[in-house]
Amino acid sequence: MRTLAVLGSTGSIGTQTLEVLQRNPGLYDVQLLAAGKNWRLLEQQIRLFRPPWAALADEHAARELRARVRDLEVEILAGEEALTDLLASRSFDMAVAGMVGHVGLLPVVAAIQGGANIALANKEVLVMAGHIVTKLCRQKGVHLLTLDSEHSAIFQCLQGHSCKDVQRLILTASGGPFLGKTKAELANITPAQAVKHPNWQMGAKISVDSATLMNKGLEIIEASWLFGIGPENIDVLIHPQSIVHSMVEFSDGAVLAQLGIPSMEVPIQYALSYPGRWPSPDSFFLNWLDLPGLTFSQPDTEAFPCLDLARAAISRGGNAPAVLSTVNDICVEYFLAGKLSFNGIPEVIAHIMSEIPWQENPDLTQILETMERTIQVTRRHIESME
Ligand code: MG
Repeated sequence: MRTLAVLGSTGSIGTQTLEVLQRNPGLYDVQLLAAGKNWRLLEQQIRLFRPPWAALADEHAARELRARVRDLEVEILAGEEALTDLLASRSFDMAVAGMVGHVGLLPVVAAIQGGANIALANKEVLVMAGHIVTKLCRQKGVHLLTLDSEHSAIFQCLQGHSCKDVQRLILTASGGPFLGKTKAELANITPAQAVKHPNWQMGAKISVDSATLMNKGLEIIEASWLFGIGPENIDVLIHPQSIVHSMVEFSDGAVLAQLGIPSMEVPIQYALSYPGRWPSPDSFFLNWLDLPGLTFSQPDTEAFPCLDLARAAISRGGNAPAVLSTVNDICVEYFLAGKLSFNGIPEVIAHIMSEIPWQENPDLTQILETMERTIQVTRRHIESME
């Protein structure tokens, strides 16, 4: 049995990963479950999977959990440092990276240092530090697999092919819940409306990113690092039905696409079963005769400026994508708390991008400094707007 660490086990990716494992028992031994502060759900997961380690970032929640699981042989780690120490010192066969935003960076780096193959959902890690993470993976000889549905689609289409024969990658985007709205119509969008994604079941942060199209912007940067293809050769098409999960166009004009139902469990399961495949329940199979017409169109970058902001960040390079991703994390936090408007998100991102000094080829320490500084400056800026 291969050993597995699940980072962000109580979130959307974590809980769906554990569901996939429950359907396919005996293939992975879950050894570490790590979460932020949801000790109640983590206790249930510990009782089900019996890992030797569990971790909570929040120390108070960790104390609560420790008291609850005294009857079990599990060591409860408290705080980020205890988690990264364990990840760097134990060699898990695989780590599912299902945390959200910039907080996932250090745990993922530690897991790679420990020698774990990474199944990455936490795309911000590659956006912020793609040059560091991909290099470290090569040095440590670990596989970087992706749980992102579009990138899983591209990875599947590339099997048996060489990236040098690729003309362009085409990332599909559902367009989110506000597809077709004008900028003026987006002015009074509420958090509840933004997190209601039409096709995908996802956590709050990525649902907002999906509504602003920042998710697709981050995905261009993510794809560029994963597949070594320049962002100028990565296009985005709006495909509201979310059946075609992405496509690869080759130099001879042939296009390969991966299709399927819109469920995160499919790419999660593929990463866990790779290079093989596990059988899926009936509900995962496409009913071809019931399919809606599949349509494709250009994204509206005037109503949704985040896509162009992301393209600008990757063409600037250096620490610019780390700034972009971190400001976006903070903006989404304030938007969800009702303290920043929907259209305020791209406005604040554009402003902060011009405020933080640009740095070429930053190392990990400089990325972390950029992150801290961006968080401070963004908070101050949004609070001064109120
Ligand atoms: Mg995606």
